Amino acid sequence: MIADANEIVATAPRADICVVGAGPAGIAMALALADAGAYVLVLESGGRRPDTASQDLCRGEVVDPALHCPPHTYRRRCLGGSSTIWGGRCVPLDPVDFAPRPWLGLPGWPIAYGDLIPYWHHAHTLAELGDFDYSARSAVPGGMRPMFAGFADATVSTDRIERFSPPTDFGRAYAGRLRRNRRIDVMLHATCTEIALEPGGRAVSHLACATRAGARFRVRARAYVLAAGGLEVARLLLASRAQISGGVGNDYDQVGRHYMCHLGGTVGLFVPAAGRLPWHGYERSVDGVYCRRRFSIEPWAQRGWRTTNVVARLQHPRLADPAHRTGALSALYLTRHLLSFEYSIRMAAPGQHGGPLPHLANVARDPFGTALFAWDMLRRRVLAARRYPSLTIPPRAGCFTLDVHAEQLPNPDSRVTLADAQDRFGVPQPRIDWRYLPADIRAVRTSLGLFGQALAAGTHGTLAFDPDQVEDDMLRDGAYGGHHLGTARMSACPRSGVVDANCRVHGVANLYIAGGAVFATSGQANPTLTILALALRLADHLRPLLPVTGRAAVAAEGQGLFSGTPTAP
Ligand SMILES: Cc1cc2nc3c(=O)[nH]c(=O)nc-3n(C[C@H](O)[C@H](O)[C@H](O)COP(=O)(O)OP(=O)(O)OC[C@H]3O[C@@H](n4cnc5c(N)ncnc54)[C@H](O)[C@@H]3O)c2cc1C
Repeated sequence: MIADANEIVATAPRADICVVGAGPAGIAMALALADAGAYVLVLESGGRRPDTASQDLCRGEVVDPALHCPPHTYRRRCLGGSSTIWGGRCVPLDPVDFAPRPWLGLPGWPIAYGDLIPYWHHAHTLAELGDFDYSARSAVPGGMRPMFAGFADATVSTDRIERFSPPTDFGRAYAGRLRRNRRIDVMLHATCTEIALEPGGRAVSHLACATRAGARFRVRARAYVLAAGGLEVARLLLASRAQISGGVGNDYDQVGRHYMCHLGGTVGLFVPAAGRLPWHGYERSVDGVYCRRRFSIEPWAQRGWRTTNVVARLQHPRLADPAHRTGALSALYLTRHLLSFEYSIRMAAPGQHGGPLPHLANVARDPFGTALFAWDMLRRRVLAARRYPSLTIPPRAGCFTLDVHAEQLPNPDSRVTLADAQDRFGVPQPRIDWRYLPADIRAVRTSLGLFGQALAAGTHGTLAFDPDQVEDDMLRDGAYGGHHLGTARMSACPRSGVVDANCRVHGVANLYIAGGAVFATSGQANPTLTILALALRLADHLRPLLPVTGRAAVAAEGQGLFSGTPTAP
């Protein structure tokens, strides 16, 4: 059932498991746990679709606004969470991400790559991604078209691909299953405001919550899972300080530290060798999933060059610079304000490029190409059930740039703490002090050098970049938006993290975390696929620990949540 918190009839609802947050992580957990027989109560702070009052609860303070967007952007408070606006790019983390990397001073995750494989498979079903296959050789029948004819390099690979979800809006896609499932109740406009501990502080006694109208209530469960997103999880743990002044799970001052987002930027200029135009488009797998190659660096080379995990995609020249002479790119640049803040910000102009006139000239020079592009975008991005992921038209000027996506090293000084200001429920807002390290930028420079060498060695073309410009290019829009990782990271020992290998908060018997907060390192991958996998793994871990009651049994005890008889599944 899905209902508004104001419709609650019981003043102290109870469940086997209470999940805070109905984004991809919370929804995946709820469905998996209910399938296993547990009665799950999901608290979602927003409504069915985004609204201003709910979104305001995401507001907070940013220490350096040049480095991080305001926290009410790049997130959505509603059923489905940020999957209501995500791009759908999916890639699993790599084996090297989980292993110890002494050249970076990283001890590795307390779990291995292999531990997540069955859950990535399951996550593929939820995100409508087809087969769990990330090899360009096998993802598409007959193998994918090469990015460069005859490309072969020992250091740089173009064989590992990314796949694209339609993108699945978890709120829309799973509302029906959530509503029909007798073992799940989703309470909308129910904001968790505090985690209350049992005397002694070693287990959660209940969650304090508020409805949209400001009514207060408590929720009790056998276990509690925070799936509120990487920023809110840290905020909630830190703000729950009634019993322990430093907050819950924060005995070693780890909550909110190591905040990672990835670094992303458009860098360099790639000029293909004469007659050797590269292929930078998408192909579809047998299941219809869009797949695309990109550059990555082999793990042995990451070790040899003491670098982090960095990938890059070949893309069109910077939209803002009319020197690309492409009407379609100029048209997109001129209309960027029609897109949401999150998608338009990365199209903004670095430096001056002569205003709109040269762009209008590009459009005028190629009216038919531009019109065709507009129709194609409408057809393939707006009307199609599975959205064409991004712009891949060949630029008229014949040159490309690299769209770099880089791992961010965990840095204890990059942190989320609490601001003085409070939201309307009296919960302190988050204060975000995102910081990167010189080593993050060094790794991008090294990786660009390796990409360039591989392209030159194969006589595919020339990649030019100014090493002194790389930092500016990677930080032009600040931290990569929407990826909120590491604020309650997984660690074998409580002194270096917040949750254990099973995502249980160190030292708190029945409190778990699902989501990007638990990432020990960020890797190169966009996080949602692994967020889903970790949530599903946590659901599996919780199954045998819980004597399941089912909603009907809870209701029979007189502790049911909503009035009326549950609808049949
Ligand atoms: C513009 C954009 C593009 C993106 N593109 C990609 C991409 O291409 N690939 C990729 O992998 N990832 C992408 N992401 C990131 C992706 O959206 C997130 O990784 C994913 O949504 C995280 O899921 P989650 O369930 O952990 O958190 P969220 O989606 O943030 O969901 C958390 C939920 O918890 C609720 N909540 C918060 N606080 C409380 C509280 N106190 N009480 C009750 N409920 C609460 C929120 O309302 C929300 O519904 C993108 C993000 C953005 C913004």
